[in-house]
Amino acid sequence: MIKRILVTGGAGFLGSHLCERLVELGHDVICLDNFFTSQKSNITHLLGRTNFDLIRHDVTLPFWLEVDEIYNLACPAAPGHYQFNPIKTLKTSVMGAINVLGMARRCRAKVLQASTSEVYGDPEVHPQREDYRGSVNPIGPRACYDEGKRAAEALFMDYHRVNRINIRIVRIFNTYGPRMHPFDGRVVSNFIRQALQGEDITLFGNGQQTRSFCYRDDLIDGMIRMMEGPDDFIGPVNLGNPDEFTVRELAELVLQLTGSTSKIIHEPLPADDPTRRRPDIGLALAKLGWQPTISLREGLQKTIEWFRNIDLTHYRPPTP
Ligand code: NAD
Ligand code: UDP
Repeated sequence: MIKRILVTGGAGFLGSHLCERLVELGHDVICLDNFFTSQKSNITHLLGRTNFDLIRHDVTLPFWLEVDEIYNLACPAAPGHYQFNPIKTLKTSVMGAINVLGMARRCRAKVLQASTSEVYGDPEVHPQREDYRGSVNPIGPRACYDEGKRAAEALFMDYHRVNRINIRIVRIFNTYGPRMHPFDGRVVSNFIRQALQGEDITLFGNGQQTRSFCYRDDLIDGMIRMMEGPDDFIGPVNLGNPDEFTVRELAELVLQLTGSTSKIIHEPLPADDPTRRRPDIGLALAKLGWQPTISLREGLQKTIEWFRNIDLTHYRPPTP
């Protein structure tokens, strides 16, 4: 069935791919974004499509649309981006959630929240399952993002319990791929950009901290499956790749795949940087039949190829 679908944050890295997939599936897609961390060029190729609309708007301010489904992705995601204006980050998660949930209540739309592995903070439980309640520092520099996303989950659950809104919550683990912002400061974009430009690779701390990197196509597939899945499975569900790597291993793999001679240098570990992170995806597999299919090596090759062909001068830092 063709649906009218709103994607907030639809011009971003994940949002633009989601819009692209939904447009290809024939849905009527509305992308709403304020371009805080994204470029219009991420979605210009969709502008000529009759089933795609773009609205420049901020989710912290109310909006009025008639839709069947909402994917709520609007929120800066990279530490450097969300710490740029931490109060705005919290407002985006909290007021953005209230606005999409209010709209969902009015037009009886189904609404999916793009939550995050950051709700687990620096986890004492490994790998992380959905029933783990997390270890988040509520007053640290990452709190604007982590606590904003936790508050958004609470709001989604309360609107579901009180107003019977049909919701979905996905907790996304580190995802990478073409169209990441090359200066977002995230580890994959930093390492690839540095390697290709012959700059030093900045390894924070001793590089023994771990992350599990999911390629964006796998992630988008999981998100759509979750939205389209049974109404009695609202989540939260982990979406991520369970293959875990140290950040040093990632640096070495990027050097190998780019053929770069860049040196690895050490910089201080940022405050509250999680030590380990790996999703337990048993629930996604059991309920959605979902698991990633693209290895880190394969995904990095595609991402490196994309980075080789972009014009870095086209990208700007976040602006208020
Ligand atoms: P991104 O920064 O590329 O995309 C976020 C988009 O939201 C951007 O287009 C930005 O301009 C827009 N935006 C930000 N504030 C807004 C506001 N107030 N009003 C309207 N639009 C606004 O990041 P991404 O990696 O594509 O992340 C998308 C979503 O997925 C985010 O909610 C993020 O928290 C979540 N997520 C991503 C990852 C990941 O590894 N990529 C991991 C966990 C969760
Ligand atoms: N990191 C690093 N060098 C960089 C950027 C990040 O060593 O240039 C590390 C960072 O300290 C963290 C990991 O890579 O341990 C992932 O960082 P990212 O900002 O990509 O995501 P998050 O910490 O939110 O998972």
